[in-house]
Order: sequence, then C-alpha cells, then structure tokens
Amino acid sequence: MRAFRRDYITRSIFGWARKVLPSLSATEREAIEAGDVWWDADLFTGNPDWNKMLAFPPAKLTDEEQAFLDGPVEELCAMVDEWRVTWEWRDLPPEAWDFLKAKKFFAMIIPKKYGGLGFSATAHSEVVRKLSTRSVTAAVTAMVPNSLGPGELLMMFGTDEQRNHWLPRLADGREIPCFGLTSPEAGSDAASMIDLGIVCKGTFNGREVTGIRLNWSKRYITLGPVATVLGLAFKLRDPDRIISQKEDIGITLALVPTNLPGVSIGRRHLPGMHVFQNGPNWGKDVFIPLDFIIGGVAQAGKGWKMLMSALAAGRGISLPSLSAAGAAYTAHTTGAYARIREQFHLPIGRFEAIQERLGRMAATAYMLDGARRFTTAGLDMGHHPAVVTAVMKGQATDRLRVSVNDAMDIHGGKGIVEGPQNYLGSLYRAVPIGITVEGANIVTRALIQFGQGSIRSHPYVLKEMLALEDTDKARALDTFDQAFWGHVGHSVRNALRAWLRAWTGGLIGPAPAGQGQATQFYRQLSRYASAFALCVDVALLTLGGNLKRKEMISARFGDILSELFLSSAVLKRWHDEGRQSADFPLVAWCMHSSFATMAARFDEILANLPARPMAWLLRFMLMPLGPRHRGPKDSFTTVCANLLLEPSATRDRITAGIYRPTDDSGVARLNRAFRIVIAAQPLRDKLRKAHVGVAAARAQGLISEDEKVQLEALAKAVADVINVDDFSAEELTSGAHDDRRHAPGGVPSPVHHAAE
Ligand SMILES: Cc1cc2nc3c(=O)[nH]c(=O)nc-3n(C[C@H](O)[C@H](O)[C@H](O)COP(=O)(O)OP(=O)(O)OC[C@H]3O[C@@H](n4cnc5c(N)ncnc54)[C@H](O)[C@@H]3O)c2cc1C
Repeated sequence: MRAFRRDYITRSIFGWARKVLPSLSATEREAIEAGDVWWDADLFTGNPDWNKMLAFPPAKLTDEEQAFLDGPVEELCAMVDEWRVTWEWRDLPPEAWDFLKAKKFFAMIIPKKYGGLGFSATAHSEVVRKLSTRSVTAAVTAMVPNSLGPGELLMMFGTDEQRNHWLPRLADGREIPCFGLTSPEAGSDAASMIDLGIVCKGTFNGREVTGIRLNWSKRYITLGPVATVLGLAFKLRDPDRIISQKEDIGITLALVPTNLPGVSIGRRHLPGMHVFQNGPNWGKDVFIPLDFIIGGVAQAGKGWKMLMSALAAGRGISLPSLSAAGAAYTAHTTGAYARIREQFHLPIGRFEAIQERLGRMAATAYMLDGARRFTTAGLDMGHHPAVVTAVMKGQATDRLRVSVNDAMDIHGGKGIVEGPQNYLGSLYRAVPIGITVEGANIVTRALIQFGQGSIRSHPYVLKEMLALEDTDKARALDTFDQAFWGHVGHSVRNALRAWLRAWTGGLIGPAPAGQGQATQFYRQLSRYASAFALCVDVALLTLGGNLKRKEMISARFGDILSELFLSSAVLKRWHDEGRQSADFPLVAWCMHSSFATMAARFDEILANLPARPMAWLLRFMLMPLGPRHRGPKDSFTTVCANLLLEPSATRDRITAGIYRPTDDSGVARLNRAFRIVIAAQPLRDKLRKAHVGVAAARAQGLISEDEKVQLEALAKAVADVINVDDFSAEELTSGAHDDRRHAPGGVPSPVHHAAE
C-alpha cells in the first residue's frame, strides 16, 4: 500500500513541491538547524501533553548557588550606586570591577575544571535577576561574558588547546572578553557583514606562519572598550586556496587579542546614557595565526551556525532575566508608592484607573518570572530551544516596556525627575536596549519566533523540506512520502479537534487531573493550540514560501505561539508553587489576557489571509461568533492590584529574589515608608474618622505620645520618598565643561539631595 501511495500519488506531489517551494538559503538552514526543540514542539502539535509539562523538573538552585546569591551577589549590589556610576564616574568603581573578577561573576557558565563557577542556567539567571534590580550597569557587565561570546563559543566549539589556554584566564578575570558581530552596515542582517579575513602567510611572534589578515569595523560592542580579547565574526576568503578548495569560506569566528598591532579599541558609546562599557572597534591589517579560529581550521566557515547555536541558549537567559527582574521591581516599587502617595485624601493605588495599571503590572511580573523559570528549567534539562528562547527574549523585553511605562505613569513627576533618589529612570532608559539587542524585537517577532518555529518546531515541515533538498532521489521520495502523509493526517486531526473544541467553547479540551480551578484554563489553551496548528497548516499551504514575506501575518502567528508558551509557563508556575489559592487571581488575569490576545490575533489573521475562501472556512470552524474572549474582568484586575498594595505571601512571591537595599537609596526609603504606612494604618484610620490632625488628636487624648511619634515618623518617611532631587544651575552645567570629552552634550556631575 505504502509503495503504491509513494510511487503513484506522492511522486507527483513531490515533483510539484520541488518546483514550487523555495529552497532554504545556507544561513536560513544553519539558523534552523541550531539548537533543538522543546515545549514549542508540543504546542505545534495542536494537542500539547499537559502531564508531560507538569512533570518537567522545576527550576532550582544548589546550596552553593544559593550561597553565591546570598553572599557575593548581595555584596556587589551593596557596592554599586547606579546614580554615581552613571552620572559621576561613568563606569563601575574599580573595587566593583575587582570584585566581579575575584568572585568569578564573569565565569558563571565556565565549568569548574577550568576554574569557573559551573552554574546552572537557573543560577546564572537568578544572579542577573538580582543584579538588575540594583544596577543595570553591573547586571549587563556581569551578563555579557556569560552570554554569547568567547567563553560560550570556546566551550561549545573550541579545541582542547584553546579551552585549556583561554577558559582559566577568562574565569579569573585575567582576560575580559567581548563579542564583535555587528558592524555599521550589518545590524539585524548580520550575515551581510563586509568585515574580511584573507588567508595568507605572515609573521607572528617572529615566525612565518599561515594565518589570516583581518580588516574590520564593528560598533555597539559591549565590554569592547575594556576587552582584552575580542571574539570576532568576519567573512573568510582563501584566494590562494591555502586551506580550502573554495575561495569564499564563509563566516568565521576567531579570538583576537586586543593588543595586536592594527587593533583600535577603547572609545565608548553611551547607549541610552547607560555607562556599561560599550563601543566601536576597528582592525587594520591585523594578522592572526590560523589556530586563533575558534575550533581551529575545521570550524572555518561555520561561524553562523556556531553563533546561532550559542544564541539558542543564551537568548533565553540574559535579557529575559533582566526583564523579569524589571517587571518584579517595578511592581514592587510602584505598589509601595501607590500605597504611600495620597491624592484627594486617598492612596492613589485605591483609584480604579491606577488599579488597572497595577493589576497588569502584578500579573506581568508573575507571568514573566514563571516563564523565565520554565525556560531556564528547560535549559537545565539540556535543551537549546531556539524558538522558545526567541519568544522569551522578544516577549520579556516588550512586556517590561509596558510595565516600566505603567510604573512611570503611576509615579508621575517622581519617576521623571532624575537624581540619586530616582529608582525608575535607569531601567526606563534600559528598555530600548533590551528590545534592540540579541535580535531586534520587530524582526524577532516577524521572522524568528514563528518564521523559524513553523519550520523547526512543526512536527513535519522540516522533514518535508529536508526531503525535498535530498540529492538521493529514491531516499528523498521515500522520506517525503512518510512526512507528507503524516502531515496530512496531522492536519485532518487538528481540523476536527479545533472545530469541535471551538464549537463547544473549549469545554471539552484536554486538561490534566487535579488542577482545580485552573482546569478550565488548560481546556481553553488546548482549544487555542489546536486552532493554531490548523491555521499554521492552512497558512503554509496557501502562502508557502511567501509566508516569510507576509510579516504581519507571520508576526501575529508569533504572538499566538508566544501566548501559548507564556500561558503554559503561568500554569506550570502555579502548579510548581503548590497551587496557592491566593495567587489564583494572578493566574486568572494572565490566562484571560492571553485568551483575548490570541482571539484578537486569530481574528486579524483570518481577516487578512489572502486565500479568502479558506479564511471564511476557518472563521466558520474556529470563531463563528467572532472573538469571544475580552480579557480579564475588572474585578480580577482590582484583586491583582490590591496584591501590590498590602504585604502578603503572594506579594513576596511576586517580588522574590529582588535586591532589598538597607542604605539610604530611593528604594530603601520607599520600603521603609511602606512598612511604616502599613503598621500605622489603624492609627491613621482613627484620625481620619475623627477628622483631626496628629497634634489635635494628641491634645484630645485620642492617641498616646508613642503613637504621635509613630505618626510623625510616618510623615517624615513619606516625605523622604515623595521628595525629588534638584540641582543648582552650576551643578548642572559644570559637568558639561569638565566632561565634554567623554560625554557629548554634558551631564550633571555633582549631585544634591533635596530630601536631605
Ligand atoms: C547597547 C547595545 C549593545 C550591543 N552589544 C552588542 C555586542 O556586544 N556585540 C554585537 O555584535 N552587537 C551588539 N549590539 C548590536 C545589536 O545586536 C544590534 O543593534 C541589533 O542587531 C540591531 O541592529 P541595528 O541596531 O543596526 O538595527 P537595524 O538592523 O538597522 O534594524 C532597525 C529596525 O529594523 C527592523 N528590521 C530589520 N530587518 C527587518 C526585517 N527583515 N523585517 C522586519 N523588521 C526588520 C529591526 O527589528 C529594527 O527595528 C548592541 C547594540 C546595542 C544598542
């Protein structure tokens, strides 16, 4: 039967598909083959196995990792004052640099046998998370050597000799790495770089050797200005055929010590007025021996695949951790501020319009941290899920932007006016950086999340595409036959599933046992997952290779995939934390918001899919009455907002792991005032009822002397928070003259504490 099907039915489909479907370019293929698939593949089946998800081990830390967080990370946080770092020193203080090196912050991912800390992805993420809530400068500085760069590339692809030489030096801070990919002409389209290496003979350390003469111009390179070794991406050519049969070898990665003749390094950019080290660098006729290629000559030309493989893991840690931390930090600080700041004789957090924002902030913090932990748990299971990490990078940084904007709006002038007491400005300025780096978000949403996911995570598409490209015709037809008919069966099953689940309002979708109130959410997610799988197949069938040019459609599919992933992570978090009923409103908020977004995106896709009859059929099957989910009810939003306005175990869970300063910083003052306001609430209620002030209440014997003192302390603590900084005209202009060389435009240097 199968032979008959293959030879008489599949053969003609195969011939047609080979002619019609575009072939994968080399860089597309390398990107698609990098890393692996994980929970994303389950979502693409249209029928995710929830029991499998719940059985994934939750993210956890070893005692040693926890001790590092409680010890060196706390110490480093206490050491850095982001205001002075940014506006006075424009760098971390020397003692912080020394501490970072001595405590091996730059070596979290380097195995112990090379002198590193050998931390799990979860521990690495927790460190970045805590640092981010104190100093973006410290967080980025610590994050970069542990992310895409020489360390990770050497561990994945280096020769033994390279590992033995470089890793111990990177681990103890003798060498500071950076990674140079981006150049002025090649940003998002990094593979189009014109930086060039030519294989030739040259002199190195007094000996004539075969090597590479390099010319490059890179920019935006984090840690570049202080780096001692540059991980460089360039195009390698071998015009004299010394190491290869072909002239264009392709993108290659090499380690270039920055003290070699011809290397220019050291100038700085100011990204969003942030002062982590970042700058351009150039090389003019720099000669390196061949064994400086990461992985040696065998890896020459494989640079793009190496980069994509490294990115597949790293993209899920650095920026998602910073963003989840930022969401928790803004929820924590804004909840406290909305409680202590009063207008119209009420804490502003009691007004519904403020609660609308606070509720969203609480739920976003809960969701992002659940997704962060879910992702690092996947990485710790040994996966390198390129699609999941692209989803995380894009979603976490985008959602942080919403949370920071909400925080700014709720703080009003207090958030806007810069100074040592401002605890939002630095994060606010960091948001666009996260959005832009490691794959700018617009391109990530439009091309990577779904574009790669639809091929990589789909159960059949990649198999079909690879079969179409196989040069062994008999084998190609046989593999294609299996994949194609498997795909047809998958589509038919999903069509029936999606139709049935939609027409029953999601009530019969599968859900794991014992999930109580959350069961309904699993059922709805099952419904949307099957609708997603069906629509993906229809879009692939009707648009084929054009789907990647229909970026608006592709981006909306990316949103649905992202919502499926983030919602799964929320349910997983709730399950792993013991299904706390007090946290349930947050879960419900996230799920309803997700359902509404998915419903809207399906509606938009069906309104714009070029194959109109197919779109009408899909609408009839999936949403005959239009989008039915309208987002969280206001009552849920209010409950979520109130969670940030009162101390509780839920509030502690939302804000767990963020740095709690005990100094006189803005956040420390805020936390102090929040504690005092909560403790004094019964007294304040008493005064309010009696319509008297503190002095009158004392005079009338309504409150004791101790209580009077408590209320005066409260007024002072609140004033300390509400006050903002101001500067003399000289303070603002003197820095401009003194520092013009380093900071075009000038920035204030001396500071003045209005609150003092
Ligand atoms: C602070 C900072 C630190 C950095 N650190 C490093 C580093 O250490 N090493 C390094 O190599 N690089 C680094 N980068 C570079 C960073 O990765 C690039 O900025 C990024 O790749 C985007 O390139 P670009 O800024 O030139 O934007 P462009 O590529 O010019 O993009 C502009 C806009 O067009 C969009 N776009 C581009 N192509 C498409 C498309 N096909 N479809 C839809 N939209 C598209 C993008 O999403 C973006 O919104 C850093 C950048 C910054 C700002």
